[in-house]
Amino acid sequence: MKLKIKDRIQRLVEGLGEKDIEGILISQPENRRYLSGFEGSAGFLVITAKDSILATDSRYTIQAQSQAPDYKLLATSGEMGQWFPELVSGLGIKRLGFESEHIAFAQHRRLYDILNKGNSQLRLIPVDGVVESLRALKEPEEIELMTRAAGIADAAMGHIRQKLRVGMTELEAAWEIEKFMREEGSQAIPFEIIVGSGSNAALPHASPSERAIGESEPIVVDIGARVEGYGSDLSRTFCLGAPDETFKKVYDTVLGAQKAAIAIIKEGMSGGDADQLARTVIEEGGYGQAFGHGLGHGVGLAPHESPRLGPNSPDKLADSMVFTIEPGIYLEGWGGVRIEDMVVMERGKLRQISQAEN
Ligand code: ZN
Repeated sequence: MKLKIKDRIQRLVEGLGEKDIEGILISQPENRRYLSGFEGSAGFLVITAKDSILATDSRYTIQAQSQAPDYKLLATSGEMGQWFPELVSGLGIKRLGFESEHIAFAQHRRLYDILNKGNSQLRLIPVDGVVESLRALKEPEEIELMTRAAGIADAAMGHIRQKLRVGMTELEAAWEIEKFMREEGSQAIPFEIIVGSGSNAALPHASPSERAIGESEPIVVDIGARVEGYGSDLSRTFCLGAPDETFKKVYDTVLGAQKAAIAIIKEGMSGGDADQLARTVIEEGGYGQAFGHGLGHGVGLAPHESPRLGPNSPDKLADSMVFTIEPGIYLEGWGGVRIEDMVVMERGKLRQISQAEN
């Protein structure tokens, strides 16, 4: 993919300017990758209107040169205290933002002490959500990669639908899915596959276990593939043999809530209002207390990112956002049903990206 790094940096600097901040220290891994193209697992970016610097150690310098040609490379060695003062003294700025939700408290204290000792005029200002809100608006190339990742997960869901048998363990089913996705071209999968059968299906984030899948019980399967760093997210709920009355009622309620949400959610709606829309359908079905998580979340370089669709979320849904719509009903002891698709907002309305059959 041709990365629009200069474009992203420019939008970031504009966003910081609105907060009266002259530069930012980036440490969060997905933000670092998004803003530079550098895929290594250690390093910092320092970005101002004039400078774009990537500081990383000798394990990554060759990779950094080829993946982040828009950045000036600073080869670091040893503790941050040894290179950070020099790096920031050359910037000629007074207010440097840092990602307070990612920098550890101890690390912040070290930086603070270093600056104090050197009588630096530079102030560290906590800044959060600026890069995340840029990442929430996907470029066409990013949507293309996520569509490919969704296609792999769709095919894997079709595959496991054929393969599921009474007596197969959740772990066996999860491995069958993972193997399939890797063979179909997925990179290392973005999150652990969920296969929750019977009473385990009542746990929204059940880890696959040695439990053997039985007849006439719900089986929640939640999977994602990854292409060039971009993930997908998809859930279906199956039942082997004849479903009981509860399954039929719960399944229809969840599907009804999901379809209503996909049809009605529009540009400009808040994540809270979108959530309420699906929640109302589930409440009317009599299961209001059993939908314990939010309706959905953004997907991209991270498996969960902005926007958040959930109770009281102020996030405004906008064109070019990619997120999930995943209502669920969970009944302790019985199990649960979740149906999840990935959608993109286009011309004010949602278009479904994932296409696995229901
Ligand atoms: Zn999800």
